[in-house]
Amino acid sequence: MSTQAAQGHHTAATMMNFPLTLDVLVRRAEEQMGSVEIVSRNADKSLHRTSYREVVTRARKLASALVRAGINPGDRVATLMWNHSVHLEAYLGIPLARAVLHTLNLRLHPDEIAYIASDARDRFLIVDAVLLPLLEKVLASGALFERIFVVGGDANAGAYENLETFLGTGDSDADLPLLHEDDALGTCYTSGTTGKPKGVVYTHRSTLLHSLVSALPDSLDLKRADTLMPVVPMFHVNAWGLPYTAAMVGAKLVFPGPSLDAASLLELLEKERVTVAAGVPTLWIGIRDMLDATPGTRSLMPGLRMVVGGAAAPERLIRDFDRLGMRLIHAWGMTETSPIGLVSRLPPELADADEDLQLALRAKQGVPPPFVEIEIRNDQGKVPRDGTTSGELLIRGPWVTASYVGVGADRWTEDGFFRTGDVARIDEHGFVQLTDRVADLIKSGGEWIASQELENALMGHPAVSEAAVVGVPHPKWIERPLAVIVLKAGVTVTANELREFIAPRFAKFWLPEAFDFVASIPRTSAGKFLKTALREQYRNWVW
Ligand code: AMP
Repeated sequence: MSTQAAQGHHTAATMMNFPLTLDVLVRRAEEQMGSVEIVSRNADKSLHRTSYREVVTRARKLASALVRAGINPGDRVATLMWNHSVHLEAYLGIPLARAVLHTLNLRLHPDEIAYIASDARDRFLIVDAVLLPLLEKVLASGALFERIFVVGGDANAGAYENLETFLGTGDSDADLPLLHEDDALGTCYTSGTTGKPKGVVYTHRSTLLHSLVSALPDSLDLKRADTLMPVVPMFHVNAWGLPYTAAMVGAKLVFPGPSLDAASLLELLEKERVTVAAGVPTLWIGIRDMLDATPGTRSLMPGLRMVVGGAAAPERLIRDFDRLGMRLIHAWGMTETSPIGLVSRLPPELADADEDLQLALRAKQGVPPPFVEIEIRNDQGKVPRDGTTSGELLIRGPWVTASYVGVGADRWTEDGFFRTGDVARIDEHGFVQLTDRVADLIKSGGEWIASQELENALMGHPAVSEAAVVGVPHPKWIERPLAVIVLKAGVTVTANELREFIAPRFAKFWLPEAFDFVASIPRTSAGKFLKTALREQYRNWVW
């Protein structure tokens, strides 16, 4: 045989084209981790215990019930729920029906939830009984669902259907639709822009690859031996994909339900022997403060890891948790990136480096995991890796969105990077550090506040001439909005009156915390408010 023929023969042999679909992960969870526990804290604080086996059985029932009820491939089924095992069943069951899981963010204003549900054309909704008052408002704002299934509460769900009754119409042994790896598995809406929220669609393939790489030791280091508590809401970028990652590795799961105050979380961390938890910085600030206020009263798992992202983790917080024997792991991501895009892990060669350098590096957003590529570019091109120059952070990879649902493509470069809108630098270790945002959004706790919308509303008050809203550093919420107001001549109005004036239009947490009445607001040459100057001016505001 000629060399050429031999080579031809050699390359003809290849691997199976085995799809990366959720059913594969689900089968394994059932077969290998069936007995692993899943704990949820109910709204009344009682604990509910189940297992992967039971969750998978119920997820299959849900999938079969959805198919029998006429849900077609690609149809959206929404959830309006806290973090608990029934939500996990929806995470698995909806995609198993070849439908698309749409997690609605219950922290948004009802008008916005209604807009998002309508834009996604959600057909069915699964809702927590404790959230029915919110649902009423969402429906009054124009959202339409063909069927609404209620979780918990009275067996008789009033005007709506009971989820348990609906599950009874499904069969956990029924044949389910064949899945394709490029099928949509879930959708989340960004709330990070001043424009309308935009839909991002995750596929089976992107979700499974994201789970796999999230679990790697140098990423979040998740494994069967872990007990994971996702405090990050399941309606926020799919709780950072953690429910899928946990099901993949077979970690015990602990879901906190609606009680997210520091005392309730600490109680659960301790009682369920949690080894790794995840959430936004604000949460951990509260936990640190409580631990410091009541030293020696909690016996948490030694070396408890906390994955922190969504907003920058202050260096001080990392240092404080080191002191408390816990380990904060800083990560960066976006709805558009599934979200894991950067993780800050100290390279082993720096393990003996100066402590301040170590902390400074850990407080940066970090380095991309395998398969993710980043670049930082400004008008001069790619910025050097010496930490001196900033530019926009660009990212590409198998779990970075290639488009938004139904809107233009101005967020992608010609060479296939997604423009994050975050401004960053990169140092000689390859660590990325965010320095600012391209837009002037305010992030309070884990949630966005659009300053321009507040400004527009405030300027709707008859006594207000000009209003600029900026995010000002806050000890608990990281940032809170502060409104700078120029009044019209000869009139007066109080901060409370202004707050009440705009209150009906916004979620409560959007309302500016502080007001400053001034004679004029600095402007750019284009006549826009000079937000950079304002932020600088108010950075040391005493709350
Ligand atoms: P979202 O899509 O709502 O998750 O918001 C994504 C945005 O949150 C990013 O573009 C960043 O501006 C911000 N963000 C996320 N993680 C971090 C972090 N670790 N440090 C600073 N900002 C972050």
